[in-house]
Amino acid sequence: MNGYHVPVDRIMQAMEVAGLGELLRLPPFDGLDPEAVRDVLQGFATLAEQVIAPTDRDGDLHGAVLDADTGRVTVPASFHTAHTEFAKGGWIALSAPSHLGGGGFPGVVATATQEMFASANLALSLNPVLTQSAIELLEQWGDDRQQGLYLRRLLDGVWTGTMNLTEPDAGSDVGAVRTTAEPTSDGRWAISGTKIYITWGEHDLTENIVHLVLARVPGGPPGTKGISLFLVPKVLVDDEGHLLEHNRVRCLSLEHKMGINASPTCVLEFDGAIGEMVGPVHGGMAAMFSMMNPARLAIGLEGTAVSERAFQQALAYAQERLQGRAARWTGEGPAPIIEHPDVRRMLVSMAASIDACRLLTFATAIAGDLAKHHPDAEVREQAQRRADLLTPIAKSFPTDQGVRNTSIAVQVHGGMGYVEETGIAQRYRDVRITPIYEGTNGIQAIDLVGRKVAKDQGAAMETLCVEIDETVSRAHAVAGLERAATALERALVALREATAWVVDQGGAASADVLAGATAYQELVGAVTSGHLLIRMACEGSDLDKARATVFAAEHLDRVALLDTVRMGAGTLAVGLGLA
Ligand SMILES: Cc1cc2nc3c(=O)[nH]c(=O)nc-3n(C[C@H](O)[C@H](O)[C@H](O)COP(=O)(O)OP(=O)(O)OC[C@H]3O[C@@H](n4cnc5c(N)ncnc54)[C@H](O)[C@@H]3O)c2cc1C
Repeated sequence: MNGYHVPVDRIMQAMEVAGLGELLRLPPFDGLDPEAVRDVLQGFATLAEQVIAPTDRDGDLHGAVLDADTGRVTVPASFHTAHTEFAKGGWIALSAPSHLGGGGFPGVVATATQEMFASANLALSLNPVLTQSAIELLEQWGDDRQQGLYLRRLLDGVWTGTMNLTEPDAGSDVGAVRTTAEPTSDGRWAISGTKIYITWGEHDLTENIVHLVLARVPGGPPGTKGISLFLVPKVLVDDEGHLLEHNRVRCLSLEHKMGINASPTCVLEFDGAIGEMVGPVHGGMAAMFSMMNPARLAIGLEGTAVSERAFQQALAYAQERLQGRAARWTGEGPAPIIEHPDVRRMLVSMAASIDACRLLTFATAIAGDLAKHHPDAEVREQAQRRADLLTPIAKSFPTDQGVRNTSIAVQVHGGMGYVEETGIAQRYRDVRITPIYEGTNGIQAIDLVGRKVAKDQGAAMETLCVEIDETVSRAHAVAGLERAATALERALVALREATAWVVDQGGAASADVLAGATAYQELVGAVTSGHLLIRMACEGSDLDKARATVFAAEHLDRVALLDTVRMGAGTLAVGLGLA
């Protein structure tokens, strides 16, 4: 079984627990109700199941191909059909404001469609993820001309967007970017330099590509403070958007990767390519962050999306594969392996993790929606703080879980998991990039302990902890959730203790805190998503309660041990013989 069925009910349930109702009561969403949201999701589900998912295996087998003579990249023909249907449906503009020609839906609804797209075909989904992020950037930072010329065509789905940060010596350290921008006589800029790993940096799905590129203008300060942002089209255009000549940007090579084979990962050479500045001079990082934050959320949900697809495959395999005897199996001959308790353990473990990760993603997206759309400025500010706090967690926790869950799905398949034929190995290969790109999960952890926790002395985290206190109290009173409530309570004590320690030690300025940052991030991820899962179970079915109990036992009990957070830099150095 390699198909994909969208769990629309589960997605709706998670959205409602994460706060969809409150969001739909805000003025910009007048006239929208949960049923209208469900209809939209159902519409996209049909596209995901019937049009996008069938292209996934094709992409894995055939990948993207570079013609080294022309620098042109082609992707499988099936991708063209899927992309055309996606563009025709106006899906890319689902959450863009109506005055720009968008659908006016909350961002969380677009987030849910992104999950479906990534489950259906992760490699192809990266194209709209980057375009969507470019749209958010140009909505905020583009001038009228850039919005009329480029943003409009991105929203129409006729052009696509890319994000160009990484260079050979500038990976996690973006401040090391060397690409230059020289002013031209007509007020534009000539961009020169080499960018690597650029996702969908060249392709034949659309006639033009809008590259958003970080570069340095002459005489600026070193580091991130001297970086500006430029819009560099693949093909130059006139003021009406008619295509002129090819710009001086070329794909030199494509990376050969362990997964997402059909997502062209390009080395791009900019050789005096003509571009225009977006945002203020030296304001490139601030502008790029308005693209990176939505991209981080979108990458985070890829962990959930690929886990969901892997879970469905593993469940179907477990129902079909016959092996051994099982205590309660009354049929003739060997039992389907789903009858074995250990196989059930693996499947439920994945299902619980997927629900928890999905809730975390939606809660982060809804915080972003409230920060944008709430009429009360104070609520907007609080929501922004929540979105900022949750972004590194929503990027890291589901992607780490994605690697774990797809590994479990391979295990459910036994030997057939390790051969390519069943298609489950592709999930494991595909998802492995997600903890790496868009800022490695290690870099997210540094952001969390520094900018998100120590900077406000743990205030935003404590506001979240107070909400978790409420979940603990509620869950203690619900039959069937006793064990989960106790585990959450213990993990919350650990989280408060760890947060106080991170703040006392001075956050990212302390080598000891940096040594424990990833463990702290894991603790926050487990507690936050566990709290949402338990909250869902308080009002939920027996299935919800069982999943909350499994998640609590597997994740919350483990992170309640603070030793890894407070391990200390010295222990790590001695452990490597470097002290
Ligand atoms: C398939 C793919 C697609 C990509 N798409 C894009 C794209 O579209 N646009 C784009 O600009 N980039 C893209 N990237 C680049 C990606 O974002 C980087 O690979 C990533 O940010 C890590 O940088 P790096 O590879 O240079 O690793 P490095 O920075 O060399 O990191 C190596 C290891 O060291 C750790 N590390 C580094 N610095 C620190 C530090 N200060 N503290 C603690 N640990 C540290 C990292 O966490 C990591 O574990 C893509 C990469 C891949 C593989």
